[in-house]
Amino acid sequence: MSDTQFDANCIFCKIVKGEIPAKKVYEDDYAVVFHDINPQAEVHLLAIPKRHIVSTKELTDAETETIGRVMVAATKAALALGLDDGWRTIINTGRIGRQEVMHLHVHILGGSKVLPAMV
Ligand code: C5P
Repeated sequence: MSDTQFDANCIFCKIVKGEIPAKKVYEDDYAVVFHDINPQAEVHLLAIPKRHIVSTKELTDAETETIGRVMVAATKAALALGLDDGWRTIINTGRIGRQEVMHLHVHILGGSKVLPAMV
């Protein structure tokens, strides 16, 4: 990928480039999936686009393929880890959504126990 697709100060861009370590479980040309360093469930993964996209607020028609690929990467990683009975995906956006890392990411939460109801 060209450097214009990365933000030099972004921690998730550094994970994509291998500049900081992460427990990666899946990677292709568009997406990376890795274990969250502070898991909130038995299995807690993050699926991210390789390209630096700040949040879902910045999505345009141009990102349609990328975001679709991120969701497919999330599914491949979840199934590879044996989450056959399902999982929860969460995307936090901006201040109101309590997004802390400003590189779009999909949380994948699962394990052997049914998760608490959210809605
Ligand atoms: O959606 P939000 O921005 O709040 O979530 C960021 C997530 O990124 C957190 O769950 C945090 O544990 C995770 N993280 C990580 N590796 C880092 C920095 C943050 O897995 N190096």
